[in-house]
Order: sequence, then structure tokens, then C-alpha cells
Amino acid sequence: MSDADCIFCRIVRGELPSKKAYEDDELIVFHDINPAAPVHLLMVPKEHFATLADARAEHERLLGKMLLLAPRLAREQGATNGFRVVANNGPDGGQEVYHLHLHVLGGPRPWKRL
Ligand code: 5GP
Ligand code: ZN
Repeated sequence: MSDADCIFCRIVRGELPSKKAYEDDELIVFHDINPAAPVHLLMVPKEHFATLADARAEHERLLGKMLLLAPRLAREQGATNGFRVVANNGPDGGQEVYHLHLHVLGGPRPWKRL
């Protein structure tokens, strides 16, 4: 999958619409199109890399920033009683979109899946 065809790269470039919850120069966060919980955000680095296994030492700060931002965004979106952070990686990890992302799920249970 080249960056040109990658769904999340296309969202980053503004070629596909998304409901944004946060954006800065290296990161975009938007609502999942098929939410599995009342709050379901996708945290997506603007740089394309496929999985956590493709992350390098240079991504350490960005990955840490994503984890530190997750609770703030979860709370802002109304998940005030806890949340879950999920990263699916590779075929056996159930990954569907091969552009690294963190799911942030929250809100009152029961949730649809996961
Ligand atoms: P994965 O299984 O790769 O971790 O999850 C990919 C997620 O991306 C799925 O939860 C799916 O609903 C979401 N998704 C796929 N295409 C789009 C899209 O075009 N827009 C948005 N907002 N979410 C998408
Ligand atoms: Zn991409």
C-alpha cells in the first residue's frame, strides 16, 4: 500500500473527509467511521508507517505524545469514566488499515465489540 492509496494518508491530506477531534503538525485524531463504543477515536501520525513493528527510535517521542494525549482527548469527548487504548498490528493482530493508529475507546458500556 503506497501513501497515495492509503486511506489514512488521504484523510491526513484532506482528500477524504473526517470528523476531527485534534490536529497538530505531526498528528491527526478523528472519530472512527464505524464506532465500537460511544467514544471511538483514531490517533494517526501524519507520517505513514504501517505498524508498530515499523516504528523506529525516531518515533519514540511521537508515540509517547500519543499515549499522553489519549486521556485528554477521551475526557474531552465525554469518556469520563475510563477508556481503552488499542493498537492492532498485522494480520493476527486484526489490523485492517496499514497506517499505524491507536484506537481510543470509551463511554458507557456495553460496547459493540472488542
Ligand atoms: P484497524 O483494524 O486497522 O485497527 O482499524 C481500522 C479502523 O479504521 C476501523 O475501526 C474502521 O472503522 C476505521 N476506518 C476505516 N476507514 C475509515 C474511514 O475512511 N474513516 C474513518 N473515520 N474511519 C475509518
Ligand atoms: Zn498512510
